[in-house]
Amino acid sequence: MFSVARLIQINMISHLLMIFMLVIISSNFFNPTNFDFFLLFLGGWLIDIDHVLYHLITEKNLSKKEFRKIHTYLHKFNIPRFYLFHTIEFLLLLLFINRYYLNISYFIVGYVSHLVLDSIGYIMYYKNLKWIRHWTIFYYLAGIKNKYTKEKTVL
Ligand SMILES: [Zn+2]
Repeated sequence: MFSVARLIQINMISHLLMIFMLVIISSNFFNPTNFDFFLLFLGGWLIDIDHVLYHLITEKNLSKKEFRKIHTYLHKFNIPRFYLFHTIEFLLLLLFINRYYLNISYFIVGYVSHLVLDSIGYIMYYKNLKWIRHWTIFYYLAGIKNKYTKEKTVL
């Protein structure tokens, strides 16, 4: 079986491979610019920066060691948590911006591919869709505790 560090690596590599596939596919069917590829990368990979933001806000700790410890734990048990950019509301905001203000289609394509890959991981682990509650700001604001986080986030 893989170690947690290896699983995190596999997760990051799978996101990059997905972006690479999207670059190839979009290059064949459309005429993307380098900036479009940059947006694809931002949406498909860098949105995981919200893990760091969440850590900084909730733990108020800049320690790299502490961050690694918590994330190793979360990955080990595949624990879903509220991450601002991994929410349905954030997706709706992106769609709104894309529709009315700025063409960020490539960002959205990368973003959705990221969410799909993350979803596959949770579905394979939990064999249900209960974890999806953590992907809403509403659920987080309502302060409702999910049994997964209740049981496993005590470090
Ligand atoms: Zn993610």
